[in-house]
Amino acid sequence: MLSQVVELIETRNKFGITTHIKPDGDGVGSSLGLCWLLRSLGKSVEVIVNGDVPIAYRGLPGASEIRDIKTLDDDYDAVFVIECSDLLRPGIAGLENQFTVNIDHHATSAHFGTVNWIDSTASAVGEMIYNLCKAIGGRITKEIAECVYMALVTDTGSFHYSNTSDRTLKVASELVKAGAQPAKVSEAVYNNYPWSRIELMRQVLDTVRRDETGRVAMMRQTLAMRKKAGAVDGDNNGFVNIPLAAREVRAVVYMREVGRDKYRASLRSKGDINVARVAESFGGGGHKNASGLSIEGDWDKKEFELLEAVREAIERTDEESDLLPENDAAQ
Ligand code: 5GP
Repeated sequence: MLSQVVELIETRNKFGITTHIKPDGDGVGSSLGLCWLLRSLGKSVEVIVNGDVPIAYRGLPGASEIRDIKTLDDDYDAVFVIECSDLLRPGIAGLENQFTVNIDHHATSAHFGTVNWIDSTASAVGEMIYNLCKAIGGRITKEIAECVYMALVTDTGSFHYSNTSDRTLKVASELVKAGAQPAKVSEAVYNNYPWSRIELMRQVLDTVRRDETGRVAMMRQTLAMRKKAGAVDGDNNGFVNIPLAAREVRAVVYMREVGRDKYRASLRSKGDINVARVAESFGGGGHKNASGLSIEGDWDKKEFELLEAVREAIERTDEESDLLPENDAAQ
């Protein structure tokens, strides 16, 4: 919990910070925000990530100092593990021998850390880093503000998603006051892709269709499409949200081929439809309206199983909403 995190920062000196492989804006932004906070407190700290930092986040202060490692080559008083469901997600060997601090906003976290601070009410881990800064009496510097604002913008879909609360907006406001520039962040995130994104989008959208209920849209991305487009990681960011723009569509299943009979699937939903539970039942996880999983087997069969599970989630939501007093015609 937060008080434990404050205490260990006060009593320890040398820190590592890591996040999941193929990090998103919350992973990078929160890691760097925390790094700047610890630096401002006079601590020794470095951010270590397996792989390259995606282009969208390379303009963040401190991004160029992030070290790309696969195996831990140093000892720390504690390693912060940001936004990871388990200790394998960073893809860094040796973490299991460290004092780890798991900081996450996913309710599905496995509590794998030596210390665990999980706040599923936070829109992004960035919001938690802001709270940590306040709790420890730190100042929100321009660097912290820029990094944490990136985390908030990306994990809330620019304050569109249902995880956006009054607290999120208050924090965002404080960050802008401290020097974060919303237009600069939006440019870096949304208008900064290579043309291969558009080539890939054209092919993926060609596969979009709806199930017989018309309420679930599905989309596919093959390895051949990626090759043809010359796509790089991250080119498909946000594709999964496109079919949600249709009024009739209440959930989306977007499957991507990653190897022979191996797929990643992203699930999205509107309102109270809980696709985190669907993902969990297939070994994945995430949030109520946005979840993901890995799956193996025959593509058609697995897609059908996912569709069935999503349809059941929709039906369950509709049944529960029928039971609410305001929907009862007799009331
Ligand atoms: P995306 O569809 O953008 O990959 O993921 C949506 C959300 O689900 C993110 O919050 C992400 O952390 C979570 N998620 C995606 N894939 C997995 C997975 O395989 N396991 C778990 N536990 N969470 C996942």
